[in-house]
Amino acid sequence: MALGTASTRTDRARTVRDLLASGKRSYSFEFAAPKTEKGERTLWNAIRRIEAVAPTFVSVTYGAGGTSRDGTVRATERIATDTTLTPVAHLTAVNHSTAELRNIIGQYAGAGIRNMLALRGDPPGDPMGEWVRHPDGIGHAADLVRLIKESGDFCVGVAAFPEMHPRSTDWDTDIRHFVDKCRAGADFAITQMFFYPEDYFRLRDRVDAAGCPTPIIPEIMPVTNVRQIERFAQLSNAAFPPELAERILAVKDDPAAVRSIGIEYATDLCARLMAEDVPGLHFITLNHSTATLEIYENLGLHQRP
Ligand code: FAD
Repeated sequence: MALGTASTRTDRARTVRDLLASGKRSYSFEFAAPKTEKGERTLWNAIRRIEAVAPTFVSVTYGAGGTSRDGTVRATERIATDTTLTPVAHLTAVNHSTAELRNIIGQYAGAGIRNMLALRGDPPGDPMGEWVRHPDGIGHAADLVRLIKESGDFCVGVAAFPEMHPRSTDWDTDIRHFVDKCRAGADFAITQMFFYPEDYFRLRDRVDAAGCPTPIIPEIMPVTNVRQIERFAQLSNAAFPPELAERILAVKDDPAAVRSIGIEYATDLCARLMAEDVPGLHFITLNHSTATLEIYENLGLHQRP
């Protein structure tokens, strides 16, 4: 892919698969389903601000344990019907029978949604607790990819883990299961957040070596406050760079300085990834657009056609 090529406004009706196949780079933003009316207002303020920069797609997470089912479906449908954005709907297998999953896929299709992210999900409560499959449900994300693909002409993404999935015992098994998801029909992947570009490159090399061409989009989450140092580790199992923690803790009483270090670090990470021809960048917004849009601007992406 040529550096600097990007999606344009006219790309938005396409699937992520078509956009990536055309050699263009994808830029996307992730939101979480709101839990309260205030949260809904915050989310929609962020969506409207991000709409102005015409990203390739935006996605809405499916709450842990399937808890946000209605909120996720509602927010994703509204993005499809009330905005100019292309939504990617997250769907997890947790606590759902296959019939329920089919029903949700049907709802998404009814709202004109063509792109979905197929995830197994984590057990409710303790993400590291034992994974228990619903008695009439499915066991792994590869099965969900197959179910979605059988249900219609969807473009399907899956999760990838630059530091290996926390439950995988070794890299070979982890990569084999990732490649199974791709062979089940996944069109693209989005990674878990990470801090060292080398982790992403190593994953990409391993997947390449396994003969799997599925594009893997790196996920970026800027640190904007001190509390996130702990939250990051809980959310992702990602190793938090000690040198970054040290810089942040040195200015911990100055929120603007903390934020500025976090944004600078994330901008540099994105620049290093782009220099190595990544297929896109996927930003976690935590439903606040400002930090991710600042990185976007730092990278000069707000000026793309
Ligand atoms: P899988 O691909 O099924 O893998 C899970 C584990 O099982 C891995 O260790 C894998 O190696 C192993 N495995 C896979 N297949 C087999 C097999 N056939 N036999 C034995 N072992 C196997 N969670 C949410 O709840 N909601 C979200 O919206 C959400 N969005 C996410 C978005 C991204 C970009 C990422 C990276 C993660 C997201 N998650 C979300 C978290 C995700 O659901 C968890 O990380 C979950 O533990 C793994 O999901 P998966 O789809 O990778 O599962």
